Amino acid sequence: SPAPAVAEDKFLISVEVCLKPSSTARIEDVKLAVERMLENRNLSYVDGPIDMPQDDTFLTDNVQRICICDTEEWVTNHGILLFWQVKPLVHVFQLSEEGPCEDLDGDSQLSSFSEWILPAKDFDGMWESLVYESGLKQRLLRYAASALLFTEKGVDPLLVSWNRIILLHGPPGTGKTSLCKALAQKLSIRFSSRYPHSQLVEVNAHSLFSKWFSESGKLVAKLFQKIQDMVEEDNTLVFVLIDEVESLAAARKAALSGSEPSDSIRVVNALLTQMDKLKSSPNVIILTTSNITAAIDIAFVDRADIKAYVGPPTLQARYEILRSCLQELLRTRILSTSQVDDQLILPSYACLKDKLASETPQDSEYHLNIYKQLLEAAEACEGLSGRSLRKLPFLAHAAAVNSECDDVTKFLPTMINTITRERSEIPD
Ligand code: ADP
Repeated sequence: SPAPAVAEDKFLISVEVCLKPSSTARIEDVKLAVERMLENRNLSYVDGPIDMPQDDTFLTDNVQRICICDTEEWVTNHGILLFWQVKPLVHVFQLSEEGPCEDLDGDSQLSSFSEWILPAKDFDGMWESLVYESGLKQRLLRYAASALLFTEKGVDPLLVSWNRIILLHGPPGTGKTSLCKALAQKLSIRFSSRYPHSQLVEVNAHSLFSKWFSESGKLVAKLFQKIQDMVEEDNTLVFVLIDEVESLAAARKAALSGSEPSDSIRVVNALLTQMDKLKSSPNVIILTTSNITAAIDIAFVDRADIKAYVGPPTLQARYEILRSCLQELLRTRILSTSQVDDQLILPSYACLKDKLASETPQDSEYHLNIYKQLLEAAEACEGLSGRSLRKLPFLAHAAAVNSECDDVTKFLPTMINTITRERSEIPD
């Protein structure tokens, strides 16, 4: 059933409950237990993990973690949502530990597609790790949710038209593929009461018409037969991810001009026809990415309802990405501070501004200096992609002389040097 009725003045907040791999508890029972716990909790709601009452052995035995999600969109000015303003929506799930199941073609090592059972351990935390300007992730989630609802309610597509095709486009390395996977994972969790099973199939378009596949046509047929079988189970939500869709259009063009083997045009056409057929199934969401922003000449994406531009990270996003990297190096004790017993928690960008502007700082001079260096690093990496940013701390560590590594205040200048070097290597 859809979201429960809510008193008008309450905010719906998602609470995600991840079961332990060993748990065999019924989802319904855990959901009730968490709802009861939240009723007694009487604390404000902010994004992030919440503690379980240690005397609740049912919860502590079965639940790995409980997280409050997506409050930011409601909360402005560092406001807090108090418990009586909130109606929690509890989603209980267990991660599938199976890795991707790849379909390898007999002789060659290239696989034409990979599939995952969702929610998958591989994608755990991915949604949270992606930082965009405000609202992009929430917008995608709401779009997809509305599309599924319209389908579910049987809205007549002749009267109101919509589709379940998402196209993310923008420069390489901005997290488009990861965002598609993370979105599929989120939706599989949020819609688990309607669709208890979810699968993600990632089609490697490149490999499908690679010259190694003389039998690509058969492969496409096999792939779509498989997808069709999944789709026929009406309690299964199926996500089909096609990366770099522009390569399909390009291959078709090249084939027409004679520079590609004619085999590939058949494959591309077969794939497009199959996609067109698939999009009418109510329980399928097609996720596509493209590194080009110009219109793509492929029937099934040019009408995508959800086209979102994913750009290079803004200053705030760059700061948050570097902050999460450094915090991880602190957690794993690759970095430390020179002060004894120092629990350095790097502030979020929103808090940073207040901290740096404050006349009566609560933080030590030493810490403030670290925050400033981190901000400086974020400013210095304008133009780098999210992918390059996540690699920086590693490159900086590898470049550092031993003694520079252990202390954050010595590490950050090394990182800024690495940034300068990386930037000089970006082609114009
Ligand atoms: P694309 O498909 O756009 O080429 P990917 O999804 O392959 O990009 O991104 C590669 C990696 O770069 C991601 O796994 C992620 O770690 C990092 N990344 C890219 N953009 C961001 C971002 N905005 N926030 C956080 N991490 C990012």
